Amino acid sequence: MKKKADILVIAPHPDDAEFGAAGTIARWTQEGKKAVYVVCSSGEKGTSDRSLQPEQFAAIREKEQIAAAQIVGVQEVVFLRYPDQGLEDTPVFRKEIVRLIRTYRPATVVTADPYRRYIWHRDHRITGQVVLDAVFPLARDHLAYPDLLAEGFEPHKVQEVLCWASEDINYRSDITQTFELKLAALRCHESQVKEFHVPDLAKRLRQRSMEMAAGENFGLAEAFHQVKIAM
Ligand SMILES: [Zn+2]
Repeated sequence: MKKKADILVIAPHPDDAEFGAAGTIARWTQEGKKAVYVVCSSGEKGTSDRSLQPEQFAAIREKEQIAAAQIVGVQEVVFLRYPDQGLEDTPVFRKEIVRLIRTYRPATVVTADPYRRYIWHRDHRITGQVVLDAVFPLARDHLAYPDLLAEGFEPHKVQEVLCWASEDINYRSDITQTFELKLAALRCHESQVKEFHVPDLAKRLRQRSMEMAAGENFGLAEAFHQVKIAM
């Protein structure tokens, strides 16, 4: 069977997709669209527990990520296992993302906004940048990677990219009906909920989602910078 997805979600770490886009992803999968997650690093440095080995912790976080994905209707999670706090904009990383885009051939790619200013996790900045470069022009141009072409990875034009955590919001997505699923997906990341000491995740998330819906005729939203790619 040929792999194909309507939406490819490319996250720097486990839990980023949930914070950024899980409500929207749940709505899409309910509409019958297929979404696949790519998680670039397994977040093995995201703990203050000094008794945990990084490999142990990565395995915990991958399990949490798979459970969270399933809650919003995502059955396939690809782990790239690059080092946490070690993502770099390298030819290897770019090519890997191009290969994934050409494999799944999504209309929509969802990722972290690389252009958030000042305090922004370097892995998020790098991932967003690599994904945008991979979408355009590298996945589109047959001459970008002659070896990928020879292996059968045909060029692919992505139609739009949605970037979460943007300071330049131009698209607000209605998550009123899927808010509870987003919350449940976030709660799958037990190690992180514990780590961040969020005593009232539901209340804070609801408040934030209300703010994101500002100016819309729905109550709860996720907000993005949407990039439409002209053909
Ligand atoms: Zn992250």
